[in-house]
Amino acid sequence: MRKTVPLVAAALAATALFTTPITPLAAQQAAKQAEKQAEKQAPARATKPAAKRAAKDAAKGAAKPAAKPDTTRFPRADTLRGSNTAERAWWDVTFYDLHVKVNPADSSISGWNGITYRVVGTAREMQIDLQVPLEVDSMVQDGQALRYRRDGNAFFATLPAPQPVGQSKTVTVYYHGRPRVATRAPWDGGFVWAHDSAGHSWIATACEGLGASVWWPNKDLQREEPDSQRVAITVPDSLINVSNGRLRSTTRNPDSTTTYEWFVQNPINNYDVAVNAARYEHISDSYQGEEGPLTLDYWPLAYNLARAQTQFAQVKPMLACFEHWFGPYPWYRDGYKLVEAPHLGMEHQSAVAYGNHYENGYLGRDLSGTGWGLKWDFIIVHESAHEWFGNSVTAEDPADMWIHESFANYSENLYTECQNGKAAGAAYVMGTRKLIRNDKPIVGHFNVNDEGSGDMYYKGGNMLHTIRQVVNDDEKWRGILRGISKTFRHQVVSGKRLESYISQQAGMDLSKVFEEYLTTTLVPTLEYRIRGTTLSYRWSHVVPGFAMPVKVTLADSTMSFIHPTEKWQTAKLDLKSPSSFRVDENFYVISHDMDGAATSR
Ligand SMILES: [Zn+2]
Repeated sequence: MRKTVPLVAAALAATALFTTPITPLAAQQAAKQAEKQAEKQAPARATKPAAKRAAKDAAKGAAKPAAKPDTTRFPRADTLRGSNTAERAWWDVTFYDLHVKVNPADSSISGWNGITYRVVGTAREMQIDLQVPLEVDSMVQDGQALRYRRDGNAFFATLPAPQPVGQSKTVTVYYHGRPRVATRAPWDGGFVWAHDSAGHSWIATACEGLGASVWWPNKDLQREEPDSQRVAITVPDSLINVSNGRLRSTTRNPDSTTTYEWFVQNPINNYDVAVNAARYEHISDSYQGEEGPLTLDYWPLAYNLARAQTQFAQVKPMLACFEHWFGPYPWYRDGYKLVEAPHLGMEHQSAVAYGNHYENGYLGRDLSGTGWGLKWDFIIVHESAHEWFGNSVTAEDPADMWIHESFANYSENLYTECQNGKAAGAAYVMGTRKLIRNDKPIVGHFNVNDEGSGDMYYKGGNMLHTIRQVVNDDEKWRGILRGISKTFRHQVVSGKRLESYISQQAGMDLSKVFEEYLTTTLVPTLEYRIRGTTLSYRWSHVVPGFAMPVKVTLADSTMSFIHPTEKWQTAKLDLKSPSSFRVDENFYVISHDMDGAATSR
């Protein structure tokens, strides 16, 4: 998740706007207007997401810089942050050796990161990201201090030693400072310096979108992931630090601090690397999953132990459901963890941050308004789904964050189905349609660390639910979802690549369906007319060539497929009354009786 959470909050705030019914067509027009205005007003942009691996060998091995970014809308800092610059493309991170001392007394940190990389292209300056106000103390390679210059949040180091292609080298960056404090974690991230209700320090990091370089030096590019990583965090003796992967050692230091050395044996997104330091209790359990025993470790605040024991019982049915639909949990070697955090939550890989107060729903609320969302804990379900979609299968560029959020949102529908049946799952996802804004496209701008609309959640989930109807074969659909997890396991992938994979596996060209839902603010509208027993129909508000089949009642109480295009076609109706004509509500489309009123979906 990451963003999941933030946008959910924004969407919740927006629901008030939709309390009075407006016709979908009017809503669409209003949305378009709003979008135009927004376009005019601006390039206001927030900082965004982070990093991955595998396609990396393909994409990065080629060592080619990214396509030209749009510098008229996005400032240079966004390009430095979001594109595969020439100073990034020639080296491929294989290992981060991160050591950070966390000092709650003055909200400062200090430490070093050993960046090991493989040379994959002609060396030049090396771009390493570390955000202000943090300061680099030195950069060292082969025992030699390096010269470097700073350009905002990016540092450029000159490497005097030869960098032959294929060779493995290490640069160590020493740094310190008082990192940006999160103003509204996890959405507006950074360091969280909180206290538990007993007054003890409770520290966490959350940096999706903003970037891991807000607290440690790295190549802060979404597609870049190391193959493995050490996370050694030093905290005051009174606290326990829980990071990603497995705890390898605990060292008491002479200065009343303790170092917790965690190790991640898999590729990991930079923004998933986390500090969680508090007075924790530990619950350990295991789950017999598709790949054997999976360790489950829960780290609630000490005084929340009993509540955690009850609430976290939801983890096993969640894992069972997701392994059924998505395939094996992706990180058996690193285990599964929930760590209580002083913010709502974040999909920190193999150490999901949990801050939903041991309540069902999203902070006690049901986003769908159907009641089904109160049957389970939103953060356990949504953030854990990101272990498959987001952490294992990662979008190459933040512009394609729908790969993370649309699938994580869709997992809520599937989990409801696992627990309460197919009708309940469908009711849940359809219930979230009121949160769709159609304000701007879901796919954002590439190479500038930009994300598209928050519609990547509810509209994205509804798009996937709609595609399931089009595929019209649940076992095949499940095979596609499991196939995605398997084919792109521990890799970065572009949205386009994923779309064509789904089309291929489904045996149908879904490119126009993706184009419609992901790159426009249109909602496919089935225009129809009934004359006697003849139904005339066509698609409007669609991209050229859109021809998605849809189910309607050609006969009473039976749904059958029709294959509308932008041209009028006819079909025979066998209905007792024309007014009983319906379009299957599982499809996220609008139906519009050209002789009557528009019907909302
Ligand atoms: Zn999410």
